[in-house]
Amino acid sequence: MAIRNILTVGEPALNKVCRPYMEFGPRLHELLDDMRETLIQADGVGLAAPQVGVLRRAVLVIETNHAEDEEDSFLELVNPEIIASSGEQTDTEGCLSLPGECGIVTRPMVVTVRAQDRDGNFFEYTGEGLTARCFCHELDHLDGVLYPQRAERMLSPEELEAYGEEDEA
Ligand code: ZN
Repeated sequence: MAIRNILTVGEPALNKVCRPYMEFGPRLHELLDDMRETLIQADGVGLAAPQVGVLRRAVLVIETNHAEDEEDSFLELVNPEIIASSGEQTDTEGCLSLPGECGIVTRPMVVTVRAQDRDGNFFEYTGEGLTARCFCHELDHLDGVLYPQRAERMLSPEELEAYGEEDEA
């Protein structure tokens, strides 16, 4: 596994529509393993393939909703689609590709995705709260959309300072 470079805003790869995976082989597996290393090192909650320069529809989301004695788990979503969503949450959102920034974004509270795993098997998964927010954020990356396009407004430097560290995806 290797840590990959996370692209930041201004890189054209972040504004491209990504292509689906048709083959579920070693190249995809290596990418997902590297994305995991990269996400852990960056201390984020989600990462999309285009953020490491790969214009393919694969994302990684950390499931942070679990019992206290359980560890965070990594959700690998290949060719994901949102098939249902409900409710609403308005909160701050950040992105590893826009370091040091933060915006106020309204997202659904509950989101169900249909995706394939690294071997091509289809599955469905329902995320709530931060996980639902991450699904929306990462899937936007696959269509070249960054969260400021969805934000009601961005936080000012003063607000950022008061707010402190934010989850980035
Ligand atoms: Zn992001």
